[in-house]
Amino acid sequence: MTDDSGISKELIAQLIAGQIDDDNATRLQRLPRKDKDRFFKYIEVLQQRAPWPEQILLRLGDKLFVVRNARNERVVKCECGKEFGDYRQNWKLACRIRTRRTLPEMLEVYDPAPACPEPGWQEIREFFCPDCATQHAVEVVAPGYPVVFEMLPDLDKFYRDYLDRPLPDEAPTWYADHTEVVTRTWASLVH
Ligand SMILES: [Zn+2]
Repeated sequence: MTDDSGISKELIAQLIAGQIDDDNATRLQRLPRKDKDRFFKYIEVLQQRAPWPEQILLRLGDKLFVVRNARNERVVKCECGKEFGDYRQNWKLACRIRTRRTLPEMLEVYDPAPACPEPGWQEIREFFCPDCATQHAVEVVAPGYPVVFEMLPDLDKFYRDYLDRPLPDEAPTWYADHTEVVTRTWASLVH
């Protein structure tokens, strides 16, 4: 395997499944640069593994994706099928959230104890899919800190400028943080 043309879809499938052998993993790491085609092979393998037909645009986590759904919306979707809403809104706000605030609560997940965050100054937030209970993220932040929006990808720019394959529904309005739409709705329910 001297160049990117030697990377088969089968090898990428092994990589995703955690079944790639050490030799091939090392050879992949040593390739001079990543090719555009490899991204699409990667997406193709993910698509074959997904239990639903919506087109995967990007993988956000082990079991979390940005997809284009049947209504031509770009949404965040769990492997189980649960949709978290518009990808421009922080998907964490559609999760079940467990917050650990006390030392005993934190010690359940931290070992050794000296590595534990300091209650009062920090809290641990765990984000779960409300349908399948997959833990999609954990954040350790100061109490009251806004829920961290880990990544708002500029999908149009990525597909157009880096992959040379622009998305058919390209529009300047896709790259904007709409999380406040969710929090504003919550606020209107309170008042
Ligand atoms: Zn799920």
